[in-house]
Amino acid sequence: MYDVIVVGARPAGAATGMLLARRGLKVLMVDRARFPSDTLSTHQIQPAGVQRLDHWGLLDTLLAAGTPATGSVRFDISGTVVQGRYPDGFLCSPRRTVLDKILVDAARDAGAEVREGFHVAGVVNDGSRVTGIRGRGGEELRAPVVVGADGKHSLVAKEVAATVLRETAPGTVASYSYWEGVDMPVGELYHRPGRAVAAFPTNDGLTMVYAAAPRTQFDAWRRDIEGNLLATVDGCGDLGERVRAGKRVERLRTTVDLPNVVRRAQGPGWFLAGDAGLVMDPVTAQGIGNALADAELLADTIVQGRDDYQRRRDEARRGIFDLTTGLARLRPVRGLSALLLKAVARRQESVEQFLGVFAGTVPVETFRRPGNVLRILAQRARG
Ligand SMILES: Cc1cc2nc3c(=O)[nH]c(=O)nc-3n(C[C@H](O)[C@H](O)[C@H](O)COP(=O)(O)OP(=O)(O)OC[C@H]3O[C@@H](n4cnc5c(N)ncnc54)[C@H](O)[C@@H]3O)c2cc1C
Repeated sequence: MYDVIVVGARPAGAATGMLLARRGLKVLMVDRARFPSDTLSTHQIQPAGVQRLDHWGLLDTLLAAGTPATGSVRFDISGTVVQGRYPDGFLCSPRRTVLDKILVDAARDAGAEVREGFHVAGVVNDGSRVTGIRGRGGEELRAPVVVGADGKHSLVAKEVAATVLRETAPGTVASYSYWEGVDMPVGELYHRPGRAVAAFPTNDGLTMVYAAAPRTQFDAWRRDIEGNLLATVDGCGDLGERVRAGKRVERLRTTVDLPNVVRRAQGPGWFLAGDAGLVMDPVTAQGIGNALADAELLADTIVQGRDDYQRRRDEARRGIFDLTTGLARLRPVRGLSALLLKAVARRQESVEQFLGVFAGTVPVETFRRPGNVLRILAQRARG
């Protein structure tokens, strides 16, 4: 008998398992994967997430694995360039083979039992609450609390029939790969009508280049993925030239499996963390940071016997979910938004506040408050 069983051992599950084990709970963590293991995902961890890893004592290991610290970003939105340092710390873009393994090892070091290669086939309940899990081989394992950290197609969520609270149609097709020999001193983001691009330095001296297009263009996109990706980066200043000067060293990955769904995150004997409970388009690169934040919130909830995980998660995510699903439409930025961006770009203080929204250190609501918007616009008018 365990205190908590966690299904899924990547950012949400491994961090939850680690934090609970560190607080003395008897934790079982299971995953069908074996680590180190890659997954179909790029890997920018926003500064708020990096701060959490630091607080948990894992950042030094991440940096020692050759993960670059990216302190500055250049965000080019249809030609308006917002460039600056992240206000609180830096972003890291570790390969998932690196990050997820560090988290799994940390959970194990904290005393969690970790079973890799364990495929969960269902949850067990006593008619009123979830009481455990069942493996594919029929083995049943018991705990009063089961955490579904099993990703966007969560089996736990299906088994407990977690209500979908919000859903926005998937908007994009995304492709990415890794290049060597690309000059990439800062992180770069581009928003163009119908396109989004991210390029960040990652482990082994490589640069990750990611491009997204409207899902409605999937048929044309997949006919020549590399050609379309390169044509997209060609529209991003000199990024195309720099990428073409380098060499692609891994296969291209492409997906349209990019849902935007908020599920109920708690019920009798169960919780959902990370993508299992809330998933959104990667255009704003929030998923890993969200998973780490959920882990922290959930560990406090379980240890302190609180009942407000759902409310606190929803409050923290509402603004960024709306912003992300809006940006994933890849529409041109016009009108007041375009004016506001131009104003932001002119003052370092506003640049930092704007970058803080994506960094996870400034709530979207704070940035969008009418008083704040007026202040930024007025500063521009004053010159
Ligand atoms: C193309 C793309 C790019 C992305 N880029 C970024 C980015 O740059 N930055 C960012 O922050 N986020 C990004 N994301 C999002 C990010 O990948 C997720 O938000 C993050 O992985 C969520 O972590 P998680 O722990 O909740 O779930 P996952 O990472 O999905 O892990 C779930 C785990 O559960 C296990 N599992 C599932 N079912 C079972 C079962 N039945 N039995 C046993 N084990 C099971 C799986 O094996 C898996 O290991 C991107 C996503 C995509 C698709």
